[in-house]
Amino acid sequence: MARLVFIGPPGAGKGTQAEKLVSERGLRHVSTGDLLRHAIKTGTALGLQAKAAVDAGELVPDDVVIGLVEESLSDGAAAAGFILDGFPRTVAQAEALETLLSRKGLPLDHVILFDIPVDRLEQRIAKRAEQSRSTASPIRSDDNPDVLKRRVEEFLTATAALSPFYQKRRLLRRIDATNGIDDVTRTVLHLITT
Ligand code: AMP
Repeated sequence: MARLVFIGPPGAGKGTQAEKLVSERGLRHVSTGDLLRHAIKTGTALGLQAKAAVDAGELVPDDVVIGLVEESLSDGAAAAGFILDGFPRTVAQAEALETLLSRKGLPLDHVILFDIPVDRLEQRIAKRAEQSRSTASPIRSDDNPDVLKRRVEEFLTATAALSPFYQKRRLLRRIDATNGIDDVTRTVLHLITT
């Protein structure tokens, strides 16, 4: 059982690793990006409110994503273990999460930072779009070079703010995300079981 946050740029492999840990460890995967894309697709009021920001690779307001995370962790998920993927992205979100989890008496165990040089990301995102195309799956509307650039910039700003926040709390662990999928999984599993 573990309560984790994954921080990493688009294409670093956070979602892939989260899915593997879900099947191996039964953790819940809470991706604010997935929740927002679902809300947009189903046309909820929240989705309509978030669409422009998501399409542009800009941040959705803090209160919107904080509400989504509160809802996702409101049943037994916090106690059973979870991976937050793509949240928090601002210090205000990190503070809200800290308050929420301390109210439950279930603090975070690790904040895992996926380290990968920016120039590797473009290749990975292009590959993700190519895979979607070959399986006739929808390509994410924000998986294109212009928006990717904006999302990477947004990530660098977010990391600059979040790293010291979590370093101070001794929760930050950096992993090399350039390795293969199985190597990265082994590293993460080792980290959360030691
Ligand atoms: P992701 O799938 O994590 O790359 O998120 C896709 C998009 O959803 C981002 O570019 C933002 O527009 C929005 N988003 C996801 N998570 C957050 C968050 N924690 N705070 C603000 N916006 C977010």
